[in-house]
Amino acid sequence: MSIKKWVHDILKEVGDKALVEAAAKGRTAQEIDEAIEAGIRIVGENYISDLKNVYFDVKRRAEWHFIGSVKTQKHDLLKRKFLEIIDMIETVDSFDFALELDKRCGSLGKVMPVLIEVNSGRESKKSGVMPENTVELVRKVAKLENVKIMGLMTMGPFSANSEEIRPYFRLTKRLFDDIKELNILGVEMRFLSMGMSDTYKVAIEEGANIVRIGTLIFGARK
Ligand SMILES: *Cc1c(COP(=O)(O)O)cnc(C)c1O
Repeated sequence: MSIKKWVHDILKEVGDKALVEAAAKGRTAQEIDEAIEAGIRIVGENYISDLKNVYFDVKRRAEWHFIGSVKTQKHDLLKRKFLEIIDMIETVDSFDFALELDKRCGSLGKVMPVLIEVNSGRESKKSGVMPENTVELVRKVAKLENVKIMGLMTMGPFSANSEEIRPYFRLTKRLFDDIKELNILGVEMRFLSMGMSDTYKVAIEEGANIVRIGTLIFGARK
């Protein structure tokens, strides 16, 4: 196991072009600790069950992002104990969820930073707001006091060839720039989260400033 070396390699490769978020689904607290020790500052979890398993056993400090499906885990995600420990939700894609999140965060006295997830491939089975509905969603969520939009996130369609995903990253970057230009009150277009182990280079070329890396940090998933 050489998480330390893998983290050094990816941090060196990415340099100051983007933040490297460790996508930690299914990994142990020890593995996550090693990654943080080697220089990782953001840990992304897809599942509340994983977060619950590792969070209190990870000794080193990091920022914790939720990068999984909001729709299927809404009930757990909205619990006080999880909202308290999550630093950003990257996968907000509906006003209904944002509204509930706003209420819960209000009663906690917390403003939750979020990214709006864009379904850049317009895939019926994927989460994310459709590209053409993104501005409207941003405008509505922007009015909520306890939810703060900090940027966009996208997955893009899966493909064996990383070049094939480029148009979807480009589309999301264009939306990001368009929304930034609108100067919507309360919206801060700072983070663009796109790209994974196979696609992060293309994502950075297209303007990503957060890349979510699992395999290249922790090895292949078991
Ligand atoms: C698993 C996952 C990643 C990282 O995937 P790798 O290919 O292992 O780098 C990134 N983002 C999300 C949302 C994921 O679920």
